[in-house]
Amino acid sequence: MNAQTVNRRAALRTTGLLTAGLLLGATPAAAVTRRPTPAGAWAELRRGNRRWVSGKVVHPHQDRARRDEVAEKQEPYATVVSCIDSRVAPELVFDAGLGDLLTVRSAAQTIDPLVSGAIEYGPAQLDVPLIVVLGHQRCGAVSAAAHALNEGRELPGRLQDIVEALRPAYEHADGDVEKMTKLNTIGVVTELKADRLLVRRITTGRLKIVGAYYSLDTGLVTRLV
Ligand SMILES: [Zn+2]
Repeated sequence: MNAQTVNRRAALRTTGLLTAGLLLGATPAAAVTRRPTPAGAWAELRRGNRRWVSGKVVHPHQDRARRDEVAEKQEPYATVVSCIDSRVAPELVFDAGLGDLLTVRSAAQTIDPLVSGAIEYGPAQLDVPLIVVLGHQRCGAVSAAAHALNEGRELPGRLQDIVEALRPAYEHADGDVEKMTKLNTIGVVTELKADRLLVRRITTGRLKIVGAYYSLDTGLVTRLV
């Protein structure tokens, strides 16, 4: 064996070790830093929702290892704007876990300046590629607002603010509460699409905003807009 062969073998061994090291080092980092496209993020949510519908949930990212992985840094792939309703928890209906979703919740997913600021945070500060506004079947807040508006009476305290936020949807829903929920969801999407901070990201393809509807009966999320 001449010196050249030895050197080449040593070089190959070093390259192999380096490659192995890079791969080992890259695997966990890639799991955290892999940023999906807006369409990829929506596909991920749809896959999770299909597992939820079929009862074959895998509860991803809900263990000690994931807690450690995201302790210093979060890179969620979507912001879900949903109702406060106890039956529409985003991490459950999309079978997601720790560090996967930013969740912004308000009665009937209505928005005001503070809520809009919370929604802007994900795309603007964390480069989140997808916002999903999620209305749901038999929404108590929408029903209560519809009743109040039907009867022409004001609800007490700040509840009337929720009624006022839902008034435009009520006026176009012909008394149909489910239609009112869907119109309100689409209205929130339209408002967010006009948000000055978000619109730049939408036009450059870095952000998508989707409106969707959740069925309490089946668990299925269907896209509205
Ligand atoms: Zn609700």
